[in-house]
Amino acid sequence: MLRLSLESGWLAPAGPGLTAFEEELTAVMRLPHALATASGTAALHMGFRLLGVGLGDEVWAPSLTFVATVAPAVQMGATPRFLDADPASWTLDPHLLREELAAAARRGRLPRCVVPADLYGQPTDMAAIRAACENWGVPVLSDSACALGAMQHGMPAGHGANLVALSFNGNKIITAGGGGALLSEDASLIARARSLATQAKEPGAHYQHETTGFNYAMSSLLAAVGRAQLPSLAERVAARRAIFARYVTALGQIPGLSFMPEPGWASSSRWLTVMQVDPRDFGVDREALRRALAEQGIESRPVWKPLHLQPAFREAPAIGGAVAAGLFERGLCLPSGSGMGAAEQLRVIGIIRAMHRR
Ligand SMILES: *Cc1c(COP(=O)(O)O)cnc(C)c1O
Repeated sequence: MLRLSLESGWLAPAGPGLTAFEEELTAVMRLPHALATASGTAALHMGFRLLGVGLGDEVWAPSLTFVATVAPAVQMGATPRFLDADPASWTLDPHLLREELAAAARRGRLPRCVVPADLYGQPTDMAAIRAACENWGVPVLSDSACALGAMQHGMPAGHGANLVALSFNGNKIITAGGGGALLSEDASLIARARSLATQAKEPGAHYQHETTGFNYAMSSLLAAVGRAQLPSLAERVAARRAIFARYVTALGQIPGLSFMPEPGWASSSRWLTVMQVDPRDFGVDREALRRALAEQGIESRPVWKPLHLQPAFREAPAIGGAVAAGLFERGLCLPSGSGMGAAEQLRVIGIIRAMHRR
């Protein structure tokens, strides 16, 4: 596929491979319109632009997410407001969102948009989030960057939001080496994104501009890489879920260890297996376990530090945050690559078992 793209002479920025990748994405995501972008962060940035985010606006997000969920909005002059996670899913708590939107409406200061984020392959309950937002006419931009292949209410992650952002960064389940996508039910939103992503050129050989845009389109070279990987999505999700299941079987009975839940409405892609370590029952804490793995050359990582605890967002309002903080304190992301072999995984499991009650 890569060779074809090179031979046809279409290197960048557009080309038939890029259009085909976008079409294949609409099929996978069951959304009719897609724009492939230079990164997931670029897709989010354009999403905020399409929703009119600007100086003085509030943008609401879960506290427990990667910084890119809100970084572009902050750079556009918006103030983030961080809401706590739902203990049943670890993603944005829809009940809390509903209450806070009602309170914001009473204050006369609704957010410009809500940006829920899927977490390590765990989808957000978009039906509940959408129901809460629709009431007030607040649009939803779903950061589904790490959840390609996850399902919620029988539909792909992000489905039900006004806009959905994906990432094909090197560490994601499907990668193009880099890149992202923005998808929607709304043809006009994606048409506008397509224009903004290519410097907002109006028709005319002389480059007419009614506004300024970005250079955010995906290169067709990267689209060829993404296209080559996309057909293996189901296989990769199955591999990640099998890795998760093996961890649970081997470690789930050990006191003090527990795993990311999967609510009835969700099917996580298990992009990463995330475990909770309760030091009182397990014997050592998350950090001691992480260091023990690192000493054996195995990389594991704490759960993302919640954004309401980050110095960069010291001034930002936060609603709750204890659930997110607890998940950070005890949460460990275990090696979960689709290509991880059974022997490698047994080694990781062996080290964790040996740390119990040490
Ligand atoms: C990877 C990721 C992003 C950023 O995507 P890039 O393609 O790296 O810009 C944003 N949000 C979440 C939740 C992610 O996992």
